[in-house]
Amino acid sequence: MNNCKIIFVTGGVLSSLGKGITAASVATILKHSGYNTTMLKIDPYLNVDPGTMSPLEHGEVFVTHDGAETDLDIGHYERFLNTHLNKINNITTGQIYSKVIKKERQGKYLGQTIQVIPHIVDEIKTAIYKASKGFDFMIVELGGTVGDIEGMPFLEAVREIIFEKDRHQTMNIHVTLVPYLKAAGELKTKPTQHSVQELRRIGIRPDMLVCRCEKNLPEELKKKLAFSCDIHIDAVIQAKDAKTIYAVPMEFLDDGIYEPLAKHFKLNNQKPDMKRWSLLVDNLLKPQKSIKLAFVGKYLKLKEAYKSLLEAISHSGAKHSIKVQIVWCDSEDIEKQGVKDILSGCDCILVAGGFGNRGIQGKIEAIKYARTHDIPYLGICLGMQLAYIEYLQNVVGIKDATSVEFDKNTKEPAVYLIEQFINTTGQKQLRTSISPLGGTMRLGSYEFETEKNTKINDAYKTIKKSERHRHRYEVNPAYKDRLEKAGMIISAHNGKLIEAIEIPSHKWFVGVQFHPEFTSTLEYPSPIIDKFIQVSLNGK
Ligand code: GLN
Repeated sequence: MNNCKIIFVTGGVLSSLGKGITAASVATILKHSGYNTTMLKIDPYLNVDPGTMSPLEHGEVFVTHDGAETDLDIGHYERFLNTHLNKINNITTGQIYSKVIKKERQGKYLGQTIQVIPHIVDEIKTAIYKASKGFDFMIVELGGTVGDIEGMPFLEAVREIIFEKDRHQTMNIHVTLVPYLKAAGELKTKPTQHSVQELRRIGIRPDMLVCRCEKNLPEELKKKLAFSCDIHIDAVIQAKDAKTIYAVPMEFLDDGIYEPLAKHFKLNNQKPDMKRWSLLVDNLLKPQKSIKLAFVGKYLKLKEAYKSLLEAISHSGAKHSIKVQIVWCDSEDIEKQGVKDILSGCDCILVAGGFGNRGIQGKIEAIKYARTHDIPYLGICLGMQLAYIEYLQNVVGIKDATSVEFDKNTKEPAVYLIEQFINTTGQKQLRTSISPLGGTMRLGSYEFETEKNTKINDAYKTIKKSERHRHRYEVNPAYKDRLEKAGMIISAHNGKLIEAIEIPSHKWFVGVQFHPEFTSTLEYPSPIIDKFIQVSLNGK
Protein backbone atom coordinates (compact mmCIF):
# COMPACT_ATOMS: atom_id res chain seq x y z
CA MET A 1 0.00 0.00 0.00
CA ASN A 2 1.30 3.49 -0.80
CA ASN A 3 1.13 6.70 1.23
CA CYS A 4 -1.12 8.68 -1.07
CA LYS A 5 -3.99 10.28 0.79
CA ILE A 6 -7.29 9.61 -0.98
CA ILE A 7 -10.35 11.86 -0.93
CA PHE A 8 -13.54 10.26 -2.21
CA VAL A 9 -16.16 12.66 -3.53
CA THR A 10 -19.63 11.11 -3.55
CA GLY A 11 -22.94 12.64 -4.52
CA GLY A 12 -26.33 12.56 -2.93
CA VAL A 13 -29.93 13.58 -3.62
CA LEU A 14 -29.61 14.15 -7.36
CA SER A 15 -27.11 14.32 -10.20
CA SER A 16 -25.61 17.45 -11.79
CA LEU A 17 -24.69 19.01 -8.45
CA GLY A 18 -21.20 19.80 -9.66
CA LYS A 19 -19.29 16.92 -8.09
CA GLY A 20 -16.67 17.17 -10.83
CA ILE A 21 -16.03 20.86 -10.20
CA THR A 22 -16.06 20.25 -6.43
CA ALA A 23 -13.49 17.48 -6.82
CA ALA A 24 -11.34 19.57 -9.19
CA SER A 25 -11.55 22.58 -6.87
CA VAL A 26 -10.42 20.60 -3.82
CA ALA A 27 -7.57 19.19 -5.91
CA THR A 28 -6.61 22.70 -7.05
CA ILE A 29 -6.50 23.93 -3.46
CA LEU A 30 -4.21 21.06 -2.46
CA LYS A 31 -2.02 21.47 -5.52
CA HIS A 32 -1.62 25.20 -4.86
CA SER A 33 -0.62 24.30 -1.30
CA GLY A 34 2.32 22.40 -2.75
CA TYR A 35 1.01 18.83 -2.78
CA ASN A 36 1.52 16.52 -5.73
CA THR A 37 -2.11 15.87 -6.56
CA THR A 38 -3.92 13.65 -9.06
CA MET A 39 -7.51 12.72 -9.76
CA LEU A 40 -9.60 9.74 -10.76
CA LYS A 41 -13.12 9.59 -12.20
CA ILE A 42 -15.24 6.52 -11.68
CA ASP A 43 -18.12 6.07 -14.11
CA PRO A 44 -20.44 3.30 -13.02
CA TYR A 45 -21.98 2.76 -16.49
CA LEU A 46 -21.40 -0.46 -18.42
CA ASN A 47 -19.71 1.08 -21.46
CA VAL A 48 -15.98 0.38 -21.53
CA ASP A 49 -15.51 4.06 -22.38
CA PRO A 50 -17.80 6.86 -23.58
CA GLY A 51 -16.28 6.75 -27.11
CA THR A 52 -19.40 5.50 -28.81
CA MET A 53 -21.94 7.51 -26.79
CA SER A 54 -23.78 10.37 -28.45
CA PRO A 55 -22.39 13.78 -27.52
CA LEU A 56 -26.02 14.90 -27.33
CA GLU A 57 -26.63 12.48 -24.51
CA HIS A 58 -23.35 12.38 -22.66
CA GLY A 59 -21.62 15.62 -23.64
CA GLU A 60 -18.12 15.73 -25.01
CA VAL A 61 -15.81 12.76 -25.15
CA PHE A 62 -12.49 13.94 -23.72
CA VAL A 63 -9.27 12.43 -25.06
CA THR A 64 -6.19 11.97 -22.88
CA HIS A 65 -2.68 12.25 -24.28
CA ASP A 66 -2.27 8.47 -24.13
CA GLY A 67 -5.35 8.05 -26.30
CA ALA A 68 -8.14 7.17 -23.85
CA GLU A 69 -11.66 8.34 -24.64
CA THR A 70 -12.94 9.52 -21.30
CA ASP A 71 -15.65 11.35 -19.48
CA LEU A 72 -15.63 15.13 -19.87
CA ASP A 73 -14.86 15.57 -16.18
CA ILE A 74 -11.30 14.41 -16.91
CA GLY A 75 -11.08 17.55 -19.05
CA HIS A 76 -12.05 19.69 -16.06
CA TYR A 77 -9.46 17.97 -13.92
CA GLU A 78 -6.71 18.69 -16.46
CA ARG A 79 -7.83 22.28 -16.90
CA PHE A 80 -7.85 22.88 -13.16
CA LEU A 81 -4.68 20.98 -12.36
CA ASN A 82 -2.63 21.93 -15.43
CA THR A 83 -1.67 18.34 -15.85
CA HIS A 84 -1.87 15.35 -18.16
CA LEU A 85 -3.98 12.51 -16.88
CA ASN A 86 -3.91 9.03 -18.35
CA LYS A 87 -6.10 6.08 -19.27
CA ILE A 88 -5.85 4.88 -15.67
CA ASN A 89 -7.53 8.06 -14.39
CA ASN A 90 -10.99 7.06 -15.63
CA ILE A 91 -12.49 3.71 -14.70
CA THR A 92 -15.87 2.33 -15.72
CA THR A 93 -17.87 -0.73 -14.75
CA GLY A 94 -17.36 -1.95 -18.32
CA GLN A 95 -13.58 -1.90 -17.89
CA ILE A 96 -13.65 -3.63 -14.53
CA TYR A 97 -15.97 -6.43 -15.64
CA SER A 98 -14.00 -6.92 -18.88
CA LYS A 99 -10.82 -7.39 -16.87
CA VAL A 100 -12.38 -9.84 -14.43
CA ILE A 101 -14.04 -11.87 -17.18
CA LYS A 102 -10.80 -11.98 -19.18
CA LYS A 103 -8.93 -13.26 -16.12
CA GLU A 104 -11.63 -15.84 -15.49
CA ARG A 105 -11.27 -17.12 -19.09
CA GLN A 106 -7.50 -17.27 -18.65
CA GLY A 107 -8.03 -19.49 -15.64
CA LYS A 108 -6.58 -17.00 -13.18
CA TYR A 109 -9.24 -17.76 -10.57
CA LEU A 110 -9.25 -21.53 -10.99
CA GLY A 111 -11.63 -23.27 -8.65
CA GLN A 112 -13.40 -20.13 -7.49
CA THR A 113 -16.89 -18.79 -8.04
CA ILE A 114 -16.48 -15.28 -9.41
CA GLN A 115 -18.54 -12.77 -7.46
CA VAL A 116 -19.03 -9.02 -7.13
CA ILE A 117 -17.51 -9.26 -3.66
CA PRO A 118 -14.58 -9.93 -3.58
CA HIS A 119 -13.56 -10.18 -7.26
CA ILE A 120 -15.13 -7.09 -8.82
CA VAL A 121 -14.48 -4.99 -5.71
CA ASP A 122 -10.84 -6.15 -5.56
CA GLU A 123 -10.33 -5.19 -9.20
CA ILE A 124 -11.78 -1.73 -8.42
CA LYS A 125 -9.47 -1.32 -5.44
CA THR A 126 -6.47 -2.34 -7.54
CA ALA A 127 -7.39 0.30 -10.15
CA ILE A 128 -7.79 3.00 -7.46
CA TYR A 129 -4.48 2.19 -5.77
CA LYS A 130 -2.70 2.01 -9.13
CA ALA A 131 -3.83 5.55 -10.09
CA SER A 132 -2.74 6.92 -6.71
CA LYS A 133 0.84 5.65 -6.83
CA GLY A 134 3.51 8.33 -6.40
CA PHE A 135 1.17 11.15 -5.36
CA ASP A 136 0.57 13.00 -2.09
CA PHE A 137 -3.16 13.25 -2.76
CA MET A 138 -5.68 11.70 -5.09
CA ILE A 139 -9.23 12.99 -5.39
CA VAL A 140 -11.64 10.29 -6.59
CA GLU A 141 -14.99 11.36 -7.97
CA LEU A 142 -17.64 8.67 -7.96
CA GLY A 143 -20.19 9.28 -10.73
CA GLY A 144 -23.92 8.97 -10.04
CA THR A 145 -25.63 9.30 -6.66
CA VAL A 146 -25.46 7.19 -3.56
CA GLY A 147 -28.04 4.42 -3.78
CA ASP A 148 -27.70 3.81 -7.53
CA ILE A 149 -27.44 0.06 -8.15
CA GLU A 150 -24.48 0.51 -10.54
CA GLY A 151 -22.51 2.42 -7.94
CA MET A 152 -22.72 -0.21 -5.19
CA PRO A 153 -19.52 -2.19 -5.91
CA PHE A 154 -17.58 1.08 -6.08
CA LEU A 155 -18.95 2.28 -2.75
CA GLU A 156 -18.01 -1.06 -1.25
CA ALA A 157 -14.48 -0.56 -2.60
CA VAL A 158 -14.43 2.93 -1.06
CA ARG A 159 -15.56 1.52 2.28
CA GLU A 160 -12.85 -1.13 2.20
CA ILE A 161 -10.12 1.37 1.26
CA ILE A 162 -11.16 3.70 4.10
CA PHE A 163 -10.94 0.67 6.39
CA GLU A 164 -7.59 -0.50 5.02
CA LYS A 165 -5.88 2.88 5.21
CA ASP A 166 -5.61 4.99 8.33
CA ARG A 167 -8.68 7.26 8.78
CA HIS A 168 -6.47 10.30 8.39
CA GLN A 169 -5.22 8.97 5.10
CA THR A 170 -8.68 9.06 3.52
CA MET A 171 -11.67 11.36 3.48
CA ASN A 172 -15.20 11.31 2.14
CA ILE A 173 -16.66 14.54 0.86
CA HIS A 174 -20.36 14.20 0.22
CA VAL A 175 -21.88 16.68 -2.23
CA THR A 176 -25.59 17.23 -1.66
CA LEU A 177 -28.41 19.61 -2.37
CA VAL A 178 -29.98 21.94 0.17
CA PRO A 179 -33.03 23.10 -1.77
CA TYR A 180 -34.84 26.38 -1.16
CA LEU A 181 -38.59 25.97 -0.91
CA LYS A 182 -40.17 29.19 -2.06
CA ALA A 183 -43.56 28.49 -0.49
CA ALA A 184 -41.99 27.84 2.89
CA GLY A 185 -39.28 30.48 2.39
CA GLU A 186 -36.74 28.01 3.77
CA LEU A 187 -33.68 26.01 2.88
CA LYS A 188 -34.34 22.32 3.54
CA THR A 189 -31.83 19.91 5.05
CA LYS A 190 -33.88 16.69 4.99
CA PRO A 191 -32.69 15.40 1.58
CA THR A 192 -29.09 15.75 2.79
CA GLN A 193 -29.86 13.91 6.01
CA HIS A 194 -31.45 11.05 4.06
CA SER A 195 -28.58 10.85 1.67
CA VAL A 196 -26.05 10.70 4.51
CA GLN A 197 -28.13 7.97 6.17
CA GLU A 198 -27.93 6.00 2.92
CA LEU A 199 -24.14 6.40 2.88
CA ARG A 200 -23.86 5.30 6.47
CA ARG A 201 -26.00 2.24 5.76
CA ILE A 202 -23.31 1.24 3.28
CA GLY A 203 -20.69 1.80 5.95
CA ILE A 204 -19.27 5.16 4.89
CA ARG A 205 -19.28 8.14 7.23
CA PRO A 206 -18.84 11.47 5.45
CA ASP A 207 -16.12 13.76 6.82
CA MET A 208 -17.26 16.84 4.95
CA LEU A 209 -20.47 18.07 3.33
CA VAL A 210 -20.46 20.34 0.31
CA CYS A 211 -23.97 21.74 0.07
CA ARG A 212 -25.25 23.10 -3.21
CA CYS A 213 -27.68 25.88 -2.37
CA GLU A 214 -29.25 28.91 -4.02
CA LYS A 215 -28.88 31.10 -0.93
CA ASN A 216 -26.25 31.47 1.77
CA LEU A 217 -26.34 28.60 4.21
CA PRO A 218 -26.95 30.26 7.60
CA GLU A 219 -24.86 29.16 10.58
CA GLU A 220 -28.01 27.67 12.15
CA LEU A 221 -28.51 25.29 9.25
CA LYS A 222 -24.84 24.38 9.16
CA LYS A 223 -25.14 23.46 12.82
CA LYS A 224 -28.22 21.37 12.16
CA LEU A 225 -26.52 19.53 9.30
CA ALA A 226 -23.35 19.01 11.30
CA PHE A 227 -25.26 17.61 14.25
CA SER A 228 -27.57 15.32 12.30
CA CYS A 229 -24.82 14.04 10.00
CA ASP A 230 -22.15 13.64 12.68
CA ILE A 231 -19.75 16.06 11.02
CA HIS A 232 -17.81 18.95 12.50
CA ILE A 233 -19.51 22.27 11.75
CA ASP A 234 -16.35 23.64 10.06
CA ALA A 235 -16.64 20.82 7.57
CA VAL A 236 -20.07 21.90 6.29
CA ILE A 237 -19.23 23.97 3.22
CA GLN A 238 -21.70 25.92 1.12
CA ALA A 239 -21.52 25.82 -2.67
CA LYS A 240 -23.65 28.50 -4.25
CA ASP A 241 -23.85 28.84 -8.04
CA ALA A 242 -20.59 30.46 -9.10
CA LYS A 243 -20.27 32.96 -11.96
CA THR A 244 -17.50 30.84 -13.42
CA ILE A 245 -16.37 27.35 -12.47
CA TYR A 246 -12.85 28.70 -11.93
CA ALA A 247 -14.12 30.82 -9.03
CA VAL A 248 -15.20 27.73 -7.07
CA PRO A 249 -11.83 27.02 -5.38
CA MET A 250 -11.79 30.59 -4.04
CA GLU A 251 -15.40 30.41 -2.88
CA PHE A 252 -14.63 27.18 -1.03
CA LEU A 253 -11.61 28.85 0.58
CA ASP A 254 -13.78 31.82 1.59
CA ASP A 255 -16.15 29.42 3.29
CA GLY A 256 -13.24 27.92 5.21
CA ILE A 257 -12.66 24.61 3.43
CA TYR A 258 -8.90 24.64 4.07
CA GLU A 259 -9.06 24.34 7.86
CA PRO A 260 -11.03 21.07 8.05
CA LEU A 261 -8.82 19.62 5.30
CA ALA A 262 -5.68 20.66 7.17
CA LYS A 263 -7.02 19.33 10.46
CA HIS A 264 -8.16 16.01 9.05
CA PHE A 265 -4.94 15.28 7.17
CA LYS A 266 -2.65 17.04 9.68
CA LEU A 267 -1.25 19.24 6.91
CA ASN A 268 1.65 21.48 7.73
CA ASN A 269 2.20 23.19 4.38
CA GLN A 270 1.42 26.85 3.73
CA LYS A 271 -2.11 27.81 2.79
CA PRO A 272 -2.72 27.71 -0.97
CA ASP A 273 -1.28 30.46 -3.11
CA MET A 274 -4.12 31.44 -5.44
CA LYS A 275 -2.89 34.92 -6.50
CA ARG A 276 -2.41 34.29 -10.17
CA TRP A 277 -5.52 32.12 -10.35
CA SER A 278 -7.63 34.90 -8.76
CA LEU A 279 -6.31 37.41 -11.27
CA LEU A 280 -7.39 35.21 -14.17
CA VAL A 281 -10.80 34.73 -12.59
CA ASP A 282 -11.14 38.52 -12.20
CA ASN A 283 -10.32 38.94 -15.88
CA LEU A 284 -13.01 36.42 -16.71
CA LEU A 285 -15.59 38.18 -14.58
CA LYS A 286 -14.73 41.76 -15.53
CA PRO A 287 -13.48 41.70 -19.12
CA GLN A 288 -12.35 44.98 -20.70
CA LYS A 289 -13.04 44.19 -24.35
CA SER A 290 -15.32 41.90 -26.31
CA ILE A 291 -15.52 40.01 -29.59
CA LYS A 292 -18.24 38.01 -31.30
CA LEU A 293 -17.28 34.49 -32.30
CA ALA A 294 -19.53 32.52 -34.66
CA PHE A 295 -19.45 28.94 -33.39
CA VAL A 296 -20.64 26.68 -36.18
CA GLY A 297 -21.63 23.17 -35.13
CA LYS A 298 -24.47 20.73 -35.08
CA TYR A 299 -24.68 19.48 -31.49
CA LEU A 300 -25.93 22.83 -30.27
CA LYS A 301 -28.79 21.45 -28.18
CA LEU A 302 -26.27 20.28 -25.63
CA LYS A 303 -23.44 22.77 -25.29
CA GLU A 304 -21.63 20.22 -23.11
CA ALA A 305 -20.76 18.51 -26.40
CA TYR A 306 -18.21 21.31 -26.97
CA LYS A 307 -17.10 21.66 -23.38
CA SER A 308 -13.30 21.73 -23.85
CA LEU A 309 -13.52 24.09 -26.78
CA LEU A 310 -15.70 26.56 -24.90
CA GLU A 311 -13.38 26.38 -21.93
CA ALA A 312 -10.32 26.88 -24.16
CA ILE A 313 -11.93 30.00 -25.66
CA SER A 314 -12.61 31.32 -22.17
CA HIS A 315 -8.97 30.64 -21.14
CA SER A 316 -7.79 32.97 -23.86
CA GLY A 317 -10.49 35.47 -22.83
CA ALA A 318 -9.16 35.34 -19.25
CA LYS A 319 -5.59 35.89 -20.40
CA HIS A 320 -6.42 39.03 -22.39
CA SER A 321 -9.46 40.21 -20.43
CA ILE A 322 -11.72 39.71 -23.44
CA LYS A 323 -15.31 38.63 -23.29
CA VAL A 324 -15.76 36.20 -26.15
CA GLN A 325 -19.42 36.34 -26.98
CA ILE A 326 -20.39 33.07 -28.61
CA VAL A 327 -22.93 33.32 -31.43
CA TRP A 328 -24.31 29.81 -31.80
CA CYS A 329 -24.76 28.93 -35.46
CA ASP A 330 -26.50 25.66 -36.22
CA SER A 331 -25.07 24.44 -39.52
CA GLU A 332 -28.52 23.17 -40.56
CA ASP A 333 -29.97 26.66 -40.00
CA ILE A 334 -27.26 28.06 -42.26
CA GLU A 335 -28.44 25.62 -44.93
CA LYS A 336 -32.04 26.81 -44.51
CA GLN A 337 -31.63 30.53 -43.93
CA GLY A 338 -28.46 31.33 -45.84
CA VAL A 339 -25.08 32.15 -44.43
CA LYS A 340 -25.13 35.96 -44.53
CA ASP A 341 -27.95 36.59 -42.07
CA ILE A 342 -26.40 34.27 -39.56
CA LEU A 343 -22.73 35.18 -39.82
CA SER A 344 -22.62 38.88 -40.63
CA GLY A 345 -21.48 40.97 -37.70
CA CYS A 346 -19.23 38.24 -36.27
CA ASP A 347 -15.54 39.00 -35.75
CA CYS A 348 -14.40 35.44 -36.37
CA ILE A 349 -15.73 32.05 -37.40
CA LEU A 350 -14.97 28.66 -35.89
CA VAL A 351 -16.10 25.32 -37.30
CA ALA A 352 -15.83 22.66 -34.65
CA GLY A 353 -15.28 18.91 -34.96
CA GLY A 354 -18.09 16.52 -35.72
CA PHE A 355 -19.15 13.22 -37.22
CA GLY A 356 -21.54 12.16 -40.02
CA ASN A 357 -22.93 14.19 -42.90
CA ARG A 358 -25.79 16.11 -41.31
CA GLY A 359 -25.25 19.85 -41.57
CA ILE A 360 -22.09 19.53 -43.70
CA GLN A 361 -23.22 21.90 -46.45
CA GLY A 362 -23.95 24.63 -43.88
CA LYS A 363 -20.43 24.29 -42.50
CA ILE A 364 -18.95 24.52 -45.99
CA GLU A 365 -20.98 27.71 -46.62
CA ALA A 366 -19.65 29.19 -43.36
CA ILE A 367 -16.06 28.36 -44.35
CA LYS A 368 -16.54 29.92 -47.78
CA TYR A 369 -17.95 33.03 -46.13
CA ALA A 370 -14.92 33.34 -43.81
CA ARG A 371 -12.52 32.76 -46.72
CA THR A 372 -14.12 35.20 -49.12
CA HIS A 373 -14.75 37.94 -46.52
CA ASP A 374 -11.26 37.78 -44.96
CA ILE A 375 -12.75 36.92 -41.55
CA PRO A 376 -10.42 35.04 -39.14
CA TYR A 377 -11.21 31.34 -39.37
CA LEU A 378 -10.25 28.37 -37.24
CA GLY A 379 -11.33 24.91 -38.37
CA ILE A 380 -10.91 22.11 -35.90
CA CYS A 381 -10.71 18.49 -37.09
CA LEU A 382 -13.85 18.23 -39.25
CA GLY A 383 -13.57 22.02 -39.57
CA MET A 384 -10.16 21.55 -41.23
CA GLN A 385 -11.28 18.64 -43.41
CA LEU A 386 -14.17 20.75 -44.71
CA ALA A 387 -11.91 23.76 -45.33
CA TYR A 388 -9.76 21.48 -47.51
CA ILE A 389 -12.85 20.27 -49.35
CA GLU A 390 -14.26 23.80 -49.76
CA TYR A 391 -11.02 25.06 -51.29
CA LEU A 392 -10.86 22.13 -53.68
CA GLN A 393 -14.47 22.60 -54.72
CA ASN A 394 -14.60 26.37 -55.06
CA VAL A 395 -11.04 27.50 -55.81
CA VAL A 396 -9.34 24.54 -57.49
CA GLY A 397 -12.59 23.64 -59.26
CA ILE A 398 -12.96 19.97 -58.27
CA LYS A 399 -16.69 20.16 -57.70
CA ASP A 400 -17.06 16.57 -56.50
CA ALA A 401 -14.33 16.75 -53.86
CA THR A 402 -15.67 15.29 -50.62
CA SER A 403 -14.90 12.95 -47.73
CA VAL A 404 -15.41 9.21 -47.85
CA GLU A 405 -17.19 9.70 -44.54
CA PHE A 406 -20.04 11.30 -46.53
CA ASP A 407 -19.75 9.30 -49.75
CA LYS A 408 -18.02 5.92 -49.54
CA ASN A 409 -17.71 5.55 -53.31
CA THR A 410 -16.62 9.08 -54.21
CA LYS A 411 -14.23 9.51 -57.16
CA GLU A 412 -12.66 12.56 -55.43
CA PRO A 413 -11.72 11.44 -51.90
CA ALA A 414 -10.24 14.70 -50.60
CA VAL A 415 -10.64 13.24 -47.11
CA TYR A 416 -10.03 9.51 -46.94
CA LEU A 417 -9.39 6.56 -44.71
CA ILE A 418 -5.79 5.55 -44.11
CA GLU A 419 -5.99 1.86 -43.50
CA GLN A 420 -2.76 1.49 -41.60
CA PHE A 421 -1.09 3.85 -39.22
CA ILE A 422 1.27 3.74 -36.27
CA ASN A 423 -0.44 4.57 -32.99
CA THR A 424 0.82 6.46 -29.91
CA THR A 425 2.57 3.36 -28.56
CA GLY A 426 4.36 2.67 -31.85
CA GLN A 427 2.09 -0.23 -32.85
CA LYS A 428 0.58 -0.68 -36.28
CA GLN A 429 -3.19 -0.07 -36.24
CA LEU A 430 -5.63 -1.15 -38.90
CA ARG A 431 -8.84 0.71 -39.68
CA THR A 432 -11.01 -0.13 -42.64
CA SER A 433 -14.57 0.71 -43.57
CA ILE A 434 -15.66 -2.41 -41.73
CA SER A 435 -13.57 -1.90 -38.56
CA PRO A 436 -15.61 -1.77 -35.36
CA LEU A 437 -16.38 1.82 -34.35
CA GLY A 438 -15.20 1.58 -30.73
CA GLY A 439 -11.54 2.51 -30.23
CA THR A 440 -10.48 2.52 -33.91
CA MET A 441 -9.82 6.21 -34.40
CA ARG A 442 -6.52 8.07 -34.40
CA LEU A 443 -6.59 8.91 -30.73
CA GLY A 444 -4.27 10.70 -28.35
CA SER A 445 -1.16 12.84 -28.76
CA TYR A 446 0.83 12.77 -31.96
CA GLU A 447 3.84 14.91 -32.69
CA PHE A 448 3.87 17.17 -35.74
CA GLU A 449 6.21 19.66 -37.36
CA THR A 450 5.19 23.17 -38.27
CA GLU A 451 6.57 24.94 -41.36
CA LYS A 452 8.54 28.12 -40.74
CA ASN A 453 6.83 31.44 -41.52
CA THR A 454 3.34 30.10 -41.08
CA LYS A 455 0.56 31.18 -38.78
CA ILE A 456 0.66 27.94 -36.85
CA ASN A 457 4.41 28.32 -36.32
CA ASP A 458 3.86 31.89 -35.20
CA ALA A 459 1.30 30.63 -32.65
CA TYR A 460 3.29 27.70 -31.26
CA LYS A 461 6.71 29.37 -31.66
CA THR A 462 8.24 25.95 -32.24
CA ILE A 463 8.78 23.43 -35.02
CA LYS A 464 7.97 20.28 -33.06
CA LYS A 465 4.81 20.09 -31.06
CA SER A 466 2.26 17.48 -30.16
CA GLU A 467 -1.50 17.75 -29.82
CA ARG A 468 -4.34 15.31 -29.32
CA HIS A 469 -6.42 13.65 -32.01
CA ARG A 470 -9.81 12.03 -32.30
CA HIS A 471 -10.82 11.23 -35.83
CA ARG A 472 -11.06 8.38 -38.28
CA TYR A 473 -10.36 10.14 -41.59
CA GLU A 474 -7.38 12.17 -42.85
CA VAL A 475 -7.03 14.81 -45.55
CA ASN A 476 -5.64 13.28 -48.72
CA PRO A 477 -2.14 14.46 -49.77
CA ALA A 478 -2.91 13.47 -53.38
CA TYR A 479 -4.52 16.93 -53.75
CA LYS A 480 -1.68 18.84 -52.11
CA ASP A 481 0.07 20.12 -55.25
CA ARG A 482 -3.13 21.40 -56.83
CA LEU A 483 -4.11 23.14 -53.59
CA GLU A 484 -0.73 24.74 -53.09
CA LYS A 485 -0.77 26.06 -56.67
CA ALA A 486 -4.13 27.63 -55.90
CA GLY A 487 -2.96 29.32 -52.68
CA MET A 488 -3.64 26.94 -49.76
CA ILE A 489 -0.62 25.51 -47.97
CA ILE A 490 0.11 22.56 -45.71
CA SER A 491 1.57 24.28 -42.64
CA ALA A 492 2.10 21.29 -40.34
CA HIS A 493 2.55 17.59 -40.93
CA ASN A 494 3.43 14.33 -39.27
CA GLY A 495 5.26 12.39 -41.98
CA LYS A 496 2.62 11.78 -44.62
CA LEU A 497 -0.22 12.90 -42.41
CA ILE A 498 -1.39 16.47 -42.89
CA GLU A 499 -1.90 18.23 -39.57
CA ALA A 500 -2.66 21.85 -40.52
CA ILE A 501 -3.59 23.97 -43.53
CA GLU A 502 -3.57 27.73 -44.12
CA ILE A 503 -4.26 30.38 -46.72
CA PRO A 504 -1.28 32.76 -46.53
CA SER A 505 -3.06 35.55 -48.43
CA HIS A 506 -5.95 35.56 -45.95
CA LYS A 507 -5.89 37.60 -42.71
CA TRP A 508 -5.93 34.42 -40.61
CA PHE A 509 -7.34 31.18 -42.01
CA VAL A 510 -6.12 28.03 -40.27
CA GLY A 511 -7.39 24.47 -40.11
CA VAL A 512 -5.96 21.90 -37.70
CA GLN A 513 -6.54 18.16 -37.78
CA PHE A 514 -6.00 17.86 -34.03
CA HIS A 515 -8.01 19.16 -31.08
CA PRO A 516 -6.01 21.98 -29.47
CA GLU A 517 -8.81 22.51 -26.95
CA PHE A 518 -7.88 19.32 -25.07
CA THR A 519 -4.60 20.80 -23.83
CA SER A 520 -5.79 24.29 -22.95
CA THR A 521 -5.86 25.21 -19.25
CA LEU A 522 -6.82 28.37 -17.38
CA GLU A 523 -3.17 29.10 -16.63
CA TYR A 524 -1.83 28.02 -20.06
CA PRO A 525 -4.33 28.68 -22.87
CA SER A 526 -3.92 26.78 -26.14
CA PRO A 527 -1.46 28.80 -28.31
CA ILE A 528 -3.40 28.34 -31.53
CA ILE A 529 -6.83 29.16 -30.08
CA ASP A 530 -5.26 32.08 -28.23
CA LYS A 531 -3.78 33.44 -31.45
CA PHE A 532 -7.15 33.10 -33.19
CA ILE A 533 -8.83 35.14 -30.45
CA GLN A 534 -6.07 37.79 -30.45
CA VAL A 535 -6.16 38.20 -34.23
CA SER A 536 -9.94 38.47 -34.14
CA LEU A 537 -9.74 41.22 -31.53
CA ASN A 538 -7.09 43.12 -33.45
CA GLY A 539 -9.08 42.90 -36.66
CA LYS A 540 -12.12 44.63 -35.15
N1 GLN B 1 -15.60 12.92 -38.67
C1 GLN B 1 -14.25 13.27 -38.91
C2 GLN B 1 -13.32 12.07 -38.79
O1 GLN B 1 -13.66 11.08 -38.21
C3 GLN B 1 -13.79 14.38 -37.99
C4 GLN B 1 -13.82 14.01 -36.54
C5 GLN B 1 -13.73 15.19 -35.61
O2 GLN B 1 -14.04 16.32 -35.98
N2 GLN B 1 -13.37 14.95 -34.37
O3 GLN B 1 -12.22 12.11 -39.27
